[in-house]
Amino acid sequence: MPRLSQSDLAERNKAFESSEPQDLLQWAADTFSGRVAAISALQAAGSVVCHMIGQLGLDIPVLFVDTGVNFPETLATRDAIGESYGLDIRTLHPSQTMDEQTTQLGVLYVTPDGQKECCRLRKIEPLRAVADQFDCLIGSLRRSEGGQRSYCPILAADPEMNVVRVNPLVNFGDERLSGYIDEHSVILNPLLAQGYPTISCNRCTTPVLENEPRRAGRWRHLGPWQAYCGINPTDLDSDTETAVELPQQLIDKVLGRETDFVI
Ligand code: SF4
Repeated sequence: MPRLSQSDLAERNKAFESSEPQDLLQWAADTFSGRVAAISALQAAGSVVCHMIGQLGLDIPVLFVDTGVNFPETLATRDAIGESYGLDIRTLHPSQTMDEQTTQLGVLYVTPDGQKECCRLRKIEPLRAVADQFDCLIGSLRRSEGGQRSYCPILAADPEMNVVRVNPLVNFGDERLSGYIDEHSVILNPLLAQGYPTISCNRCTTPVLENEPRRAGRWRHLGPWQAYCGINPTDLDSDTETAVELPQQLIDKVLGRETDFVI
């Protein structure tokens, strides 16, 4: 199968830097028609992406991973967004309940290695189980979140899922994000207004104080070395030689070119 590497995407990424998020969503829908989904934990930026997909009337389902230990507010946000924006939200589940996992493996999330395993079992594996239905997954990472996300490309090759990741909001700064939310009265997880700037499972998310970094409430019990769950590969790895395998015709569409096989 032909390969599409991160370095192959460099030129396209450069050209897309000035594109609006809605244009990138439309491009993804047109390019990967029927084999594209958004993935969202229904945080603020994810809610904005959902709103845009609904407004544009795009045929893009939204994948939501229910780890079994999400806050009830997060599940209610998922339901409200799906209904209000007319979205096909598909909830993915781990193979075991948290109780079954704990009985078998113990309380994983209290150590750094255990946390990685728990996130793999409860977040990454459910997504991997459906990944072969898609060639493209749309995320909602933003460079203004800082850390590794400061360098997040718009298009990224994700070899683990064998998809192209598209992050249409990478250039949406905090001001633009809140401006869009206010202008369109975007439905938000109520926890965001209760001191939780980012939200994941109830086991590993706490509110943050005003003078703390926004991700200080994630895995607070593990200390500062753990910052990401790994569901977004660009959080962990910026290797330009990562590659995915896709049909040549689709690679050409992604790169906006035609391959001439005639010699
Ligand atoms: S955030 Fe915590 S509880 Fe949720 S999957 Fe990761 S380690 Fe497990």
